Amino acid sequence: MSADRPDLVVIGGGAAGLLGAWRAASRGIRVLLLEKNRRPGVKILASGGGRCNLTTTREGSSLLRSFRDDQAAWLKPALSAFPPSRLRAWFHERGVSTEVEAYEKVFPALGRARVVLEALQGAVTQSGVVLRTEASVTQLRPDGCELVIGLEDGEVRAPRVLLACGGESYPKTGTTGDGYRWLSALGLRLTPRYPALVPLCSPDQDVRALAGLTVEPAAVELRETALTAARFEQPLLFTHFGLSGPGPMDVSGELLARGLDRVHLDLAPSLDGPSLDRALAQHFQHGGASSWLRAVSRATGLADRVAALCVARVGLRHPEWAPDRREFRRALGETLKGLPVLVSGTRGYDYAEVTRGGLDLSEVDPKTMAVGRVPGLYVAGELLDIDGPIGGFNFQAAFATGYLAGEAAARAVQR
Ligand SMILES: Cc1cc2nc3c(=O)[nH]c(=O)nc-3n(C[C@H](O)[C@H](O)[C@H](O)COP(=O)(O)OP(=O)(O)OC[C@H]3O[C@@H](n4cnc5c(N)ncnc54)[C@H](O)[C@@H]3O)c2cc1C
Repeated sequence: MSADRPDLVVIGGGAAGLLGAWRAASRGIRVLLLEKNRRPGVKILASGGGRCNLTTTREGSSLLRSFRDDQAAWLKPALSAFPPSRLRAWFHERGVSTEVEAYEKVFPALGRARVVLEALQGAVTQSGVVLRTEASVTQLRPDGCELVIGLEDGEVRAPRVLLACGGESYPKTGTTGDGYRWLSALGLRLTPRYPALVPLCSPDQDVRALAGLTVEPAAVELRETALTAARFEQPLLFTHFGLSGPGPMDVSGELLARGLDRVHLDLAPSLDGPSLDRALAQHFQHGGASSWLRAVSRATGLADRVAALCVARVGLRHPEWAPDRREFRRALGETLKGLPVLVSGTRGYDYAEVTRGGLDLSEVDPKTMAVGRVPGLYVAGELLDIDGPIGGFNFQAAFATGYLAGEAAARAVQR
């Protein structure tokens, strides 16, 4: 293929761009893929702690319910066309077997993100996509029936462009939010953006003093507004700056979007309030704070220092109460089921796994990923106002939207 006369230019060689380019080229059209970095898929290599949690085992309505309501309805065509089962089959056909881990996460069985990227790159090459690396796009503008893609050393024109250059999280991997600027310059609506799936900073010294301790099972909740009741049953990690791990990271985007300043930690999610109260009563053997500490550890299995923080917090609130009073026990149970932790902010885009917000979904046809107001333009992946929780949902959304865009672009060329 002549790289100068492509039917489709794909901007960005990440999950969405690679799969979209493969799909379009395997349907027989000429595809040029432009990637800023020396190699595509840098974020794939960094993902899942280097192991790439490429998707989830959830399917159908359970999969859709993992996304926010507005996103779920919009994502339905993409996730139906290219669901997790199909994604796994796609990788299996290319020699990447997968295995399921806790929290319904799917990883490559070899435990290395590299095999995921190699399969994608192999498919892209075989399908005839022309890949240009170190090709940093600087501009995107319409000109008559074409779209003009500005590069540092010239420009490329094409009737169709799939914009898949990612969000602005982890900018050191190449995603510096370039696509948002072009979409905005094209007059398209963008929703407010926040770092998401990002650790939380807390001013609470007693919480930060627990650095290094994990709690699993645990749940992290946002209770501060009647508008939202987000709860994520995921492990949490105390750190020197505040809270990390899947639970705190999962609530981060919503917390920022709502302007909230605290989370509540359920440190005993497998016990409901009355069961926890009974367990505390059973294990309490008259005495002072140390007796309460022992009761908490036995009832919940929490590490002593975490248990001590909860007992101390209740003691501070109710110093007048004798430590063996029923009220103290009830307050302790409430604290264990919802320890409030103040949040002063997040670790920002440098540590965020995704960007929340992006191209307003009303600008994009969910069946084709075509942007209604810019003929020839398709958008997929993290640039869209889509963000799922930890657990393979973000790659799944990127792969599925990329797939639909590639398919639709090829069909449009052949029409
Ligand atoms: C540390 C980390 C771990 C993660 N782990 C997981 C996980 O295990 N499971 C999961 O589901 N999600 C995970 N995510 C999220 C996931 O990586 C993203 O949701 C996904 O990569 C988005 O895909 P995308 O194709 O839209 O964008 P990206 O994968 O970010 O790809 C965009 C590509 O566009 C290129 N680009 C950007 N600007 C330009 C330009 N101007 N010109 C040319 N090219 C450009 C970039 O270099 C990049 O290669 C993780 C994210 C991070 C940061």
